[in-house]
Amino acid sequence: MASQHRSTTTREATAESTPSETALETARRQLDRVAAQLDVDDAVIERLSHPRAVHEVTVPLERDDGSVEVFTGYRAQHDSVRGPYKGGLRYHPDVTRDECVGLSMWMTWKCAVMDLPFGGAKGGIVVDPKSLSDGEKERLTRRFAQEIRDVIGPNADIPAPDMGTDPQTMAWLMDAYSMQEGETIPGVVTGKPPVIGGSYGREEAPGRSVAIVTRESCNYYDYPLAETTVAVQGFGSVGANAARLLEEWGATIVAVSDVNGGVYDPDGIDVSAIPSHDEEPEAVTRFATELDEGDDVSRISNDDLLELDVDVLVPAAVGNVITADNADAIAADIVVEGANGPTTFAADTILEERGVHVIPDILANAGGVTVSYFEWLQDINRRQWSLERVNEELEAEMKTAWNALKNHVERRDVTWRDAAYAVALDRIGDSHEMRGLWP
Ligand code: GLU
Repeated sequence: MASQHRSTTTREATAESTPSETALETARRQLDRVAAQLDVDDAVIERLSHPRAVHEVTVPLERDDGSVEVFTGYRAQHDSVRGPYKGGLRYHPDVTRDECVGLSMWMTWKCAVMDLPFGGAKGGIVVDPKSLSDGEKERLTRRFAQEIRDVIGPNADIPAPDMGTDPQTMAWLMDAYSMQEGETIPGVVTGKPPVIGGSYGREEAPGRSVAIVTRESCNYYDYPLAETTVAVQGFGSVGANAARLLEEWGATIVAVSDVNGGVYDPDGIDVSAIPSHDEEPEAVTRFATELDEGDDVSRISNDDLLELDVDVLVPAAVGNVITADNADAIAADIVVEGANGPTTFAADTILEERGVHVIPDILANAGGVTVSYFEWLQDINRRQWSLERVNEELEAEMKTAWNALKNHVERRDVTWRDAAYAVALDRIGDSHEMRGLWP
């Protein structure tokens, strides 16, 4: 009953929800909406509205100047009915407990959509990684590993990179954990460099899955890629890799951006000429300043990019960028969510009413966690796969998940997000009901 009550109140609140909606609010509203459509036990939905645990730690860091600063870190563990908790660690000044919980819920659904034997988790440290030297970042990461050591592990909870963290961060974490355990345990994290048990293709995987899902949705809605225009917000690993692959497959990337703004060229941008954020931070900005602005090529803001009249919009930067304030102005026919949670619940409703197809994050960027699963298997077996094998298996997994959602969309006439939630909740609900409540 409690969940039904919450459903009603959150639905009423929707119209007033603001751009500042937290990831947790969005995640709960999405869950309530789908719960009302599905035949999943109320008790299970109620359980899934709450994380199993949220670990909060303090992480002291000796700065390079000898002073000591204390940072707050979190690890939210949402649900593990289908397997170990899984999800990224982000280093960002806006990290909060609620954000970690909301993102951990999305990881649970994402792993279930992909039918991976994992649950959902997310964590991070409230810190601006740009303010840290490499040495400080290493010390902070090693100490954080120590503080969460008891709650992570290759069979318990497996972190991975997210905003502000990268393969090097995972290498430090894995090393710190392994040193304390007294043996090398590569499977405690994924997204490591391949030389220490990381998987080839892991870094590009979220962008690759965004590109695969964009290609599938264009086929589905009859947009031949060669005639399709795409705008990509964000040029980190997700945005850059998605843009490059889509360009390779024939689409025209008309706009890209980084944190400072973007570039628009209706004739298409040579995205392979622009380094990604990881290769050269803020290279889009450099590209934009070196540009001879002609009649056709122009510099645009991130807000303008979202409203461009393109076939496909890929928000691949941060969360909460499509809100009730700009949803009416989104001119794309298809939105493929590269970032986690770029669309607020209220914006989603508006886009649905306007007939804009939103392909949700929990499918679109799920290539990351899927190749994380491949990495975990490689670590357990101590045998590395070739890049070709990783990409082939990722392609197959993405197509299987796409087809499962498509069947649902066609059978039930629901949005792609509703379909993704339905597929995920069916699987999670069945596992909960079969295992039962302990004791
Ligand atoms: N941080 C990534 C995500 O949001 C990947 C998580 C993982 O590989 O565990 O999906």
